Amino acid sequence: MGSSSTKVGNYQVAISSQLRDLTKIFNPEKHSQSFILVDENTKALCLPRLLHAVPALKNSHILEIRSGEKIKTIDTCKKLWQALLKKNADRSSLMINLGGGVIGDMGGFVACTYKRGIPFINIPTTLLSQVDATIGGKLGVDFNDVKNAVGIFKNPQAVFIHPGFLKTLPGDELLSGFAEMIKHSLISSPKMWDEIKKVNPGRIKNWDSMIYQSLLAKKKIVEKDPFEKNTRKVLNFGHTLGHAFESAALHDGIKLLHGHAVALGMIAESFLSSRICGLSEKHLHEITDFILLHYHRQLHSDISDINWRRWITHDKKNTGDRLNFTLLQSIGKPVINAHCDMRLIAEAVRFLNSKL
Ligand code: NAD
Repeated sequence: MGSSSTKVGNYQVAISSQLRDLTKIFNPEKHSQSFILVDENTKALCLPRLLHAVPALKNSHILEIRSGEKIKTIDTCKKLWQALLKKNADRSSLMINLGGGVIGDMGGFVACTYKRGIPFINIPTTLLSQVDATIGGKLGVDFNDVKNAVGIFKNPQAVFIHPGFLKTLPGDELLSGFAEMIKHSLISSPKMWDEIKKVNPGRIKNWDSMIYQSLLAKKKIVEKDPFEKNTRKVLNFGHTLGHAFESAALHDGIKLLHGHAVALGMIAESFLSSRICGLSEKHLHEITDFILLHYHRQLHSDISDINWRRWITHDKKNTGDRLNFTLLQSIGKPVINAHCDMRLIAEAVRFLNSKL
């Protein structure tokens, strides 16, 4: 694919197989200082490649945090704000988020709140962050184990995607990102779904054009409704139950990656779709079978052990005590603000459990 570029709202999103192309989307010399946020994995595997390709970043300050969802907290933000203060970061300083969705969500949040906001760019290094988290401007941290309970909407100055970073990404992390690609296809069109059904994520050597297609699907949605007042809610398919599973697992110390939780959520929410929105039984089984084909070995924990009920009521999409879902009327036809009662939700979770 080489390179391509698109705009999401007012910021540039470039995809390139050449890391040095980063300088095409921003000029490091325009900033008083730059700070690169990494975790131990992106520090070891991605940072040396970036600094080699873009020598102008060699004098950047490196901010390192531990990897994992557990550290996506206000406590970690405090440490990062302290580090920025200590180095006298000012409003013309730049934050560069080099990592997955955790680095992007939290680094962006820290940048936007420090001294009322310094610019930041995203260099996403996981499949999940490249196809999803890096665009759309949702930033924040988990709070009291509730996913993304504290955060804001704010766009990066630019995004630079280098699919070459995926070469070192573990297989379960690739699958985690693939779940968001499945979601983009299910909410977008039967054609995209037909294409993704042919993909075996374990065998893909070159993700470039698939990343671009998936990003374009999300771009179309977030541009219409940047602050999730309305139509952007279609992106929440699989996420109401997915977030409840993820929060419960986080609280109970069970490993469940974001995309894997969403994969479980999409099965359960396809069941809900078939019961109240008219999704055909054929499609319910097609979606369930495809997800299980690729995720079955990863989803061995019995999700009935996860206390999802306690967490589902925290979902930001709820209004009052009505539980609010994005469901599918058919493939490519999502329905927002579909309300379900607990009895039906429990039935959907039982359906999911019966398949695991
Ligand atoms: P992550 O950021 O935890 O990264 C996953 C793991 O991969 C980490 O251990 C990381 O160190 C490692 N890693 C990163 N790049 C690597 C590379 N190139 N090679 C080897 N290892 C690498 O997880 P994620 O799946 O990228 O993101 C999940 C987070 O994204 C969740 O917190 C979720 O809430 C958030 N998210 C946000 C949005 C949004 O719109 N803002 C959308 C979806 C998900």
